[in-house]
Amino acid sequence: MLQTILALPVENQIFFAVLGFSWTVYLWEAYLSYRQRRIYRSTTQVPQELGKIMDTETFEKSRLYQLDKSNFSFWSGLYSETEGTLILVLGGIPFLWSLAGTVSGRFGFGPEYEITQSLAFLTLATLFSAVTGLPWSIYSTFIIEEKHGFNQQTLAFFLKDAVKKFAVTQCILLPVTSLLLYIIKIGGDFFFIYAWLFTLCVSLVLVTIYADYIAPLFDKFTPLPEGELKTDIETMAKSISFPLTKVYVVEGSKRSSHSNAYFYGFFKNKRIVLFDTLLEDYSPLNKTGEEQSENTEDTPSESKVKAKNKKQGCNNPEILAVLGHELGHWKLGHTVKNIVISQMNSFLCFFLFAVLIGRRELFLAFGFHDSQPTLIGLMIIFQFIFSPYNELLSFCLTVLSRRFEFQADAFALGMGKASQLYSALIKLNKDNLGFPVADWLFSMWHYSHPPLLERLRALGSVKQD
Ligand SMILES: [Zn+2]
Repeated sequence: MLQTILALPVENQIFFAVLGFSWTVYLWEAYLSYRQRRIYRSTTQVPQELGKIMDTETFEKSRLYQLDKSNFSFWSGLYSETEGTLILVLGGIPFLWSLAGTVSGRFGFGPEYEITQSLAFLTLATLFSAVTGLPWSIYSTFIIEEKHGFNQQTLAFFLKDAVKKFAVTQCILLPVTSLLLYIIKIGGDFFFIYAWLFTLCVSLVLVTIYADYIAPLFDKFTPLPEGELKTDIETMAKSISFPLTKVYVVEGSKRSSHSNAYFYGFFKNKRIVLFDTLLEDYSPLNKTGEEQSENTEDTPSESKVKAKNKKQGCNNPEILAVLGHELGHWKLGHTVKNIVISQMNSFLCFFLFAVLIGRRELFLAFGFHDSQPTLIGLMIIFQFIFSPYNELLSFCLTVLSRRFEFQADAFALGMGKASQLYSALIKLNKDNLGFPVADWLFSMWHYSHPPLLERLRALGSVKQD
């Protein structure tokens, strides 16, 4: 088999290497998920060391939730790998490229307008992936998340959201891509430097405008009302000189009851965002008790707020501990380190792209016999040729992220918030139905956060009473 492949022309070797690598990664990940599912199936009793932090009911609920999710991702993963393979084998990319040529021709742009054809190609490709992905995300939201009590969306809200997301993506993607293609075209020998600088600027601009202009298109942000929590957050920010300008609450409960908190912003203009589902006193999921559940049938609403008899979210000292962890990421320079890593990576990729883009065999490998469009080159090189490197990089970043999580926990511990963080982590794990037992290989490959028990242990020396 190997000899037959080695006897083939180099473009066919490239094609089979790309396909082979893609299936290798797929099978490796399928194997890891299989190992993890084995854990979900066999660990039916709360392990002794977890007895104090998790009750039998939550444990069983999270086990079944994670098992359902894992089974789902088995089928969706198999589907997308098969789809990707069929697209490559049947020449889907050159087909879509010529279809894009026809479309842009209809608008009066002949084959000499490569950028117009590229934009038509991008729109068609994103449309294709949005449409083929839709049934899967509907199933995940309305069958799996729904079954386990997380989903808060109606189908109408969900579909409207999907259309909005598609429109917003196009509004950003199309101008950015046309400028990038233009820069590559006129940039001369050092185009990769200009292309990299351009993507750097775009990402800085996006980060700056995202919170004020893009995120509000999808979710409602309200300033955290004056009160004890707000004062405490401001005092804490001040104590570590975090340049906090505003604290927002985002109405995450419109989508799901999963909870979170994060900060964003540049330099002296930082904001903190808390999910309403994180705040015990704020979460609509707590407020709407039985009185609401009786009349949900006749209140027409885009979002259905379901009655939950259990309280969700954290109390104020626990929220402060969670924020202590988040601000730890900032104080310890994790945010800056991540930006530097990703920009160095992007520079390296553009440089290698410049080295490879002239190679005709790369285009031949993917069915482009008489043209070498730049957009297709970007796709082939960044997505297919770099994929072994991308896998390795993402593994290293996962390992790094776990280190950062431990360090941020230790930072909160240093602020004297260990015991509040300890109980917050337990509550959040419970609210989000995280399963506390993991296969070592699966978690090493996939977990961006250390397993709950390891985090508690690291905090726990304080809590051994
Ligand atoms: Zn963190």
